[in-house]
Order: sequence, then C-alpha cells, then structure tokens
Amino acid sequence: MKSFTEEAPTLFLVATPIGNLEDITYRAVRILGEVDIIYAEDTRVSRKLLSHHGIKTKLASLHAHNEEDRADIVLQVLREGGSVALVSDAGTPLVSDPGLVLTKKVAEAGHPVVAIPGPSAFLPALVVSGLRTHPFLFYGFLPAKKEKRRRTLETLRDLPYTLLFYEAPHRVRGTLADMADILGKRRAALCRELTKRFEEVRRFRLDEASDLPDLKGEMVVVVEGGEERKQLPESDLAEHVEILIADGLPEMEAIKKVARMRKLKKNTVYMAFQNKKKRQNSKRFEE
Ligand code: SAM
Repeated sequence: MKSFTEEAPTLFLVATPIGNLEDITYRAVRILGEVDIIYAEDTRVSRKLLSHHGIKTKLASLHAHNEEDRADIVLQVLREGGSVALVSDAGTPLVSDPGLVLTKKVAEAGHPVVAIPGPSAFLPALVVSGLRTHPFLFYGFLPAKKEKRRRTLETLRDLPYTLLFYEAPHRVRGTLADMADILGKRRAALCRELTKRFEEVRRFRLDEASDLPDLKGEMVVVVEGGEERKQLPESDLAEHVEILIADGLPEMEAIKKVARMRKLKKNTVYMAFQNKKKRQNSKRFEE
C-alpha cells in the first residue's frame, strides 16, 4: 500500500522525545496538531509534551491492557474519516512499547499506517557506545526471571552482532552479572539518562561491571558481539570425533573434547556426529 497517494484517514505512529523536549521533529509537531485524536500510553505524560508545543488535540489512553478494545475504536474513527496518532511515553511507539496490535488491525483493515520517525533510546546508545555499529541486534528487555534471562543470553552468546538491551535500574546489576557469566569478558557500555541533564555513558568490560557505582535512571546496555565462529562442515566435525575415538576416547568424551577445542556447543558436535552415523547406516541399508 502506498502511504501518500490519497488523503486517506491514516494512523500515524509518532516518535516523541526520550527526555529532552526539544527532540521532536517539525513534522511530528504538525501531525500531532492536525490529527483528530492522539492515543497515548499515559495521557498525563503526553499532555506535558503537547502543552510545551502548544498542541490542543484531544488525548485518549492506549496501553498494554486496553489495546485490543482501543484498536476497535480507532478503526471506527478511521472508517468515519478521522485520522489518529499514536505516541508512547517516550521514544518510538511499538519499540518495547504498545502499538503492535493496533498497527496490525489498522493495516489489515486496509488503512494507511505512517511512521513519523524520531528518537528511540537504543540508537543514540549504539552510536555513543564505541562498539561496532553494524550489524547489531536490538533485544529490548530481557526476561525479568533469572533462569529465563540466562537461557535467553545463552541463545545470544554466539551471535556476531553488537547487542542492545533495555533494562530497569533495580535489575541491572543482576543482568550484568549474568552477562559476565554467560557472554564472557566482552566490552560493554551502559548509557544512562540519554538526552537528559544527567546523561552518562560508562564503557567497561563485563567482568568489571560489579565495580560500577550508582546505576539509577533509564538505561540501555550495549554489549560487544560474540566472535564469529568459523562454520565447519558437518563431515569435518564428525571426522574429528572419529579420530579421537580411534585414539581410544569413549564417544561422549570425544564429542565433548571436539566441542571444547572448536569452541562449539556440545550438541552441535553431537548432532554432526549422529547425522554422519545415520547417513552411513542408510547407505549400508541401500547396498
Ligand atoms: N519506546 C522507547 C524507545 O523508543 O526507546 C522505549 C520504551 S521502554 C518502555 C523504556 C526503556 O527505554 C527504559 O527502561 C530504558 O531502558 C530505555 N530508555 C528510555 N529512555 C531512555 C533514556 N533517556 N536513556 C536511556 N535509556 C532510555
């Protein structure tokens, strides 16, 4: 669907400041002034921004708990020819914020959805971190429960991408400790209170994270990517295991040793070895 071919009733996803009220585009201010209604996560927070810019548009709430119902009302407004803007408390809606349910419903109903780009906390954090800026992976919030968080970090460990996380101050120490444990001695940056008066960027190695003083405010954690692992052909891994077995190691010991030597997960080596065995067996069966 083309966004601007006709003056159709539209849902605008409008980015707003992440702290400094001046960080808003001329276009965002114009659109917020022109739409029929603005849906906001917390109307009290957005009202401050709107009055700072002299915008008098009607405000209503849309948050995680009423998004389904509100989406139906928004569809009604669009059907009647009105235009709607969605904002979140800070930054870009849908980025670790509500708006996906609404966006899907509006797009499926055939109305244009237009993003008005602007601030989001992860991008300024990435560019000030001093770490590689691409490729990167924006994760958002890790699970709050320790076990789940550690399992998630394990899935991210080998990715050769700079990793970006949002984190709450009361959880950040635990998260940094888990990161040090699972991701190892990588370089990292903690970017606090971006665009605000007490903005601060700390660059450190994950194993030094416990020395960081007062970790308050809003923050983004940026972590160096994992080493790029050489993709080895399965046959090569399986042969390596076979050589060690021929040298006298039991099968599981040989698998573990290859995994250690090649810095791979035990399961990767195990699967490569099993696949080769299966292929050999089915060949024998065919003969
Ligand atoms: N939609 C927002 C965006 O586009 O970045 C993110 C909303 S999410 C609910 C809030 C989290 O974003 C905070 O807990 C923090 O991790 C991060 N964040 C928001 N503002 C920030 C700021 N000024 N400095 C650092 N991190 C910030």
